[in-house]
Amino acid sequence: MVQSQIAPLMELLVCQADTFGLSLSSDEALLMVKHLFMVIEKNRQVNLTKITDPHDAIVRHYIDSLLFVKALEESHCPSACSLDSLQFLDLGTGAGFPGIPFSIVTKMGGLLIDSTTKKTRAVQDFLVDLGLNSRISVMSIRAEDLALCRATSFDLVLVRAVAKLSILIEYASPLLKPNGLLISSKAHIEADEVVHAEKVAQLCGMKLVSRGTYDLPRASGHRELFCFMKTAHASLDLPRKPGMAVHRPL
Ligand code: SAH
Repeated sequence: MVQSQIAPLMELLVCQADTFGLSLSSDEALLMVKHLFMVIEKNRQVNLTKITDPHDAIVRHYIDSLLFVKALEESHCPSACSLDSLQFLDLGTGAGFPGIPFSIVTKMGGLLIDSTTKKTRAVQDFLVDLGLNSRISVMSIRAEDLALCRATSFDLVLVRAVAKLSILIEYASPLLKPNGLLISSKAHIEADEVVHAEKVAQLCGMKLVSRGTYDLPRASGHRELFCFMKTAHASLDLPRKPGMAVHRPL
């Protein structure tokens, strides 16, 4: 870790988070900067991210992940009140996004999953080194398989950059508790993807409850965050076999 870079990166993170109304303590900012340096270091052996410039990563990984906290607050869902008693799932976590920054800020316990074992091994090391392994665990498993052993276990499912919205709805539905929320961030979304997602949501017992647009700082583009609530039983048997959601979309 380059010591002289730590303070300016923490300052950038605190300052940018503040523009979204999120006030980070210096301990929280330091944990995120430490995670960033671990990701950059590990990225030499395992393909975790294309964003290797630390300043860019502060915005595109950490501020971007903290938008999930904003979206949860702005969903006005009753479960969003007592965050530290909830359990989240980060589906397709990669290097730990958005789950690690999200938990650093909310103190919520959760599970990070990814189907790629090389990535989950790296994330397991990050969690131990950051001292977060008592409240966050990580597993190498596909979402469809997790739904067989951990059905209706999660209050929140967070997803960034994994698949189309309709596919994420199909993955999340069997994993969510009643009234649980799926929060998904999208950089670009066409109107017909949203229309299709709402149809699939109906089949899966879910409903769109909020949708917010945020501009990332440093001209890093905008994001739309969608919140879908599990409001009823799905009208089809879920999960379908691994791969079906992608290859035989609803
Ligand atoms: N969320 C991270 C990683 C995005 S890349 C970020 O925003 O940086 C998408 C990740 O999802 C990949 O690591 C891939 O292995 C994982 N993935 C894709 N489909 C999955 C599934 N069905 N179950 C679990 N992980 C999945």
